[in-house]
Amino acid sequence: MTCPRCAQNLTSHSFEPYDMIQGIAYYYTAPVQATVRINTDEAYAEFKTHLDGALRDAHWTWIFDCSGMTLEHYSSVNFLRNLVHTLVLEHDQALQEVLILHPSFWIRSAVWMVWPLMNANLHRKIRFIETKKELTLELLGKRINAIA
Ligand SMILES: [Zn+2]
Repeated sequence: MTCPRCAQNLTSHSFEPYDMIQGIAYYYTAPVQATVRINTDEAYAEFKTHLDGALRDAHWTWIFDCSGMTLEHYSSVNFLRNLVHTLVLEHDQALQEVLILHPSFWIRSAVWMVWPLMNANLHRKIRFIETKKELTLELLGKRINAIA
């Protein structure tokens, strides 16, 4: 763990290894589980160390779980702009998919808002997944394909 904030308190950010399928590392983020709000550039720089860490895997997929999110968990538009900037400039090759789990109206609106800042690659990677069961079945399908 290279994030200085999480070194002090493990629950500061939410960015956990979730699965590994066919050489793709899956990471899981649930903003409700994080105690630090990312509402400044400094806070973003700290969170970004987790994204930098994901680059150690040649390929990675981000599961972003909106479950239980209320207004207090939503980050600023500035955070989303920073995030899109990072994903486009630094993760274009490594990032495989962004799976937005339990999408809320707010997150759909937010994605739509920063859509013009993304490149075509990132547009293709973003998918909304309604339920945990749907996600589990999809990962199971990938695992079966891997051994078939
Ligand atoms: Zn952290």
